[in-house]
Amino acid sequence: MTHYQTTTTILFRVAALVLLLTLSPALHAADKLKALIVDGQNNHEVWPKSTIMMKQYLEASGLFEVDVARTKNVWKSEREAAYLPLAKAGESEPVKNSKTDPNFKPDFAKYNVVISNFGWKAAAWPEATRKAFEKYMADGGGFVSVHAADNCWSEWPEFNQMIGLGGWGDRTEKDGPYVYYDKAGKIVRDTSPGKAGKHIPAHEFVVTIRNHEHPITKGLPDFWLHSKDECYSRLRGPAENLTILATGCDSPELQAAGRNEPLLMVLDYHKGRVFHTTLGHDTEAFEGVGFITTFLRGTEWAATGKVTQKIPADFPGAAKSSARPFKSPVAK
Ligand code: ZN
Repeated sequence: MTHYQTTTTILFRVAALVLLLTLSPALHAADKLKALIVDGQNNHEVWPKSTIMMKQYLEASGLFEVDVARTKNVWKSEREAAYLPLAKAGESEPVKNSKTDPNFKPDFAKYNVVISNFGWKAAAWPEATRKAFEKYMADGGGFVSVHAADNCWSEWPEFNQMIGLGGWGDRTEKDGPYVYYDKAGKIVRDTSPGKAGKHIPAHEFVVTIRNHEHPITKGLPDFWLHSKDECYSRLRGPAENLTILATGCDSPELQAAGRNEPLLMVLDYHKGRVFHTTLGHDTEAFEGVGFITTFLRGTEWAATGKVTQKIPADFPGAAKSSARPFKSPVAK
């Protein structure tokens, strides 16, 4: 190698290094996980606001960039209509209907994780969108099902495989067993006939961690008091490849029976990962630090298979719930 070539090589390397250092903030941004919240039809009027809340939590973690894909046929949300324009995607006026949006076809493959904020009686996605989502998940995608998202689409077998357990939507024994922890701490798969999905009015309740080894729940206290929320019970479904991470006990009747219902779950769907949280009924639930923390950890795990986040200092204990009042970007 001549002196000229050596000098040129060194200069080239220095230039490359300078370029790399200059670009590194951009690279850093590009390294963020890409999350997509899908919504538009949900019986919970809070939905346009809760999408914004979840979007803010994800962005504030520093780990995620978040897009929203919304059906055109959005459901009426008079109470939270002020939040509708903020999510960018979706242009329509809120009108209550349950029609399929034929143009709802997000490019799932662009995202590390998809979060569903759909709810009870949401119209079916177009068939091509269902197939695209099944492929995205089978190929190793991530999915997070929040609260009433598990009320949706009992007629879609692959979706039921993903969520494992669901409520309402005409689910009965034909859809799979009830799955819960009994008084002795054993998991029961109960095939007795009956409807799926029940809860008493929203209230504070204790969450019991059942799995301390999983990345999502590792380090969480055994028991913690969740903010006012609905505690779903009597869910049923195929419940295959399902791991229960946390349970709760809803009513005095269930407490007397010692029946503890799954609240936080993970599932494998082919190469894909699913985090299923039944928490998240209304603003108070979404403000709960227990919800926020498990949602963020569950979403990171669904996206990557790992959790890098620390447990926050304001995580609730067994005797006292903990909340972060939401700073609304909308004047109410
Ligand atoms: Zn609810």
